Amino acid sequence: MTRAWNFSAGPAALPEPVLRRAQAELLEWNGSGASVMELSHRGKRFMELAAEAEASLRRLLGVPSGYKVLFLQGGATQQFALVPMNLAGPGDHADYIVTGHWGEKAVREAAPYIDARIAATSESDHYLKLPDRDTWRLSPGASYVHYTTNETIHGVEFHDIPDVGDVPLVADMSSNILSEPLDVSRFGLIYAGAQKNIGPSGFVVMIVRDDLLARAGRPMAKIFRYAEHAANDSMLNTPNTWGWYLAKLTFDWLEEQGGLAAMGEHNARKATTLYDAIDGSGGFYRSPVEVSARSRMNVPFTLHDSALDAAFLAESEKAGLLALKGHKAVGGMRASIYNAVPQEAVDVLVKFMRDFATRHG
Ligand code: PMP
Repeated sequence: MTRAWNFSAGPAALPEPVLRRAQAELLEWNGSGASVMELSHRGKRFMELAAEAEASLRRLLGVPSGYKVLFLQGGATQQFALVPMNLAGPGDHADYIVTGHWGEKAVREAAPYIDARIAATSESDHYLKLPDRDTWRLSPGASYVHYTTNETIHGVEFHDIPDVGDVPLVADMSSNILSEPLDVSRFGLIYAGAQKNIGPSGFVVMIVRDDLLARAGRPMAKIFRYAEHAANDSMLNTPNTWGWYLAKLTFDWLEEQGGLAAMGEHNARKATTLYDAIDGSGGFYRSPVEVSARSRMNVPFTLHDSALDAAFLAESEKAGLLALKGHKAVGGMRASIYNAVPQEAVDVLVKFMRDFATRHG
């Protein structure tokens, strides 16, 4: 068995030590006589794991008091709908900063419930940059401002936290959570689908300020209400215990690596290696994204002649480099280099790119 260098955008590479530990514990976990997947979420062992996972996440991100941590299901897409249902009432409005595909989708899924206003968008720039701050039209009385900290498809990332005054800032951090230190106190609500930097798809991590949990929202079933999940320690119904377990292993791994400051340095180094190779290729490769907005997690790039794309993909796969094809909305290539992708993977990719350029230049 050989594991390839995996550049998938998501579900994405998980830390190998996490997978090995899960493998070792798959049949019998923690002295329980069964797999973690086969045990009650109400049992002492799982309740301990759940609490430890939360404590570890709180340590990693320095989550201040006054915030709840929730472990939910349904992917980030479900949150596109649940955020407006919970944070706004019928007839309310919210502002959306749209910097790519996922921001667009967040607006579309919110629209049945609230007046979802696009306060800023870089659509006319094909989402290759962030919208200039002086073009943002934040509306008075908005229930919240929503943005996507890293657009996974377009490879556009915010490198600072926008100042939106007293309006709660809501962030979809699915593709860059835990990739560097974060000032959680600047946010009202953070959510992230797990399948890039945390664990398996379907699992969702949320950090939400207490005053937002107290909002009435709209009439809805309990299962959709964040306050109910918080009051029940994310066990309102049977949680995704396997996802929770893997998330805990990943949080442990992150702490062993030195936490988010160390992750931030690791990710910056990988991104610099790859962008330098693209920019230094004499035009053979090109990064279309404006330099100041380039993502450290998802690196889209094109070849100078798209007729070479098929050869690039076939040869890279043969060389053990997985999932470099760009999203169909953008074309070209994309290398996703989340936390679990080691520097060595990026070094191998860059060497392959140089060799390919020499052979086909
Ligand atoms: N937001 C972002 C930034 C994403 O990258 C994705 C998935 N790639 C989603 C939302 C949607 O996540 P899910 O498919 O888990 O609903």
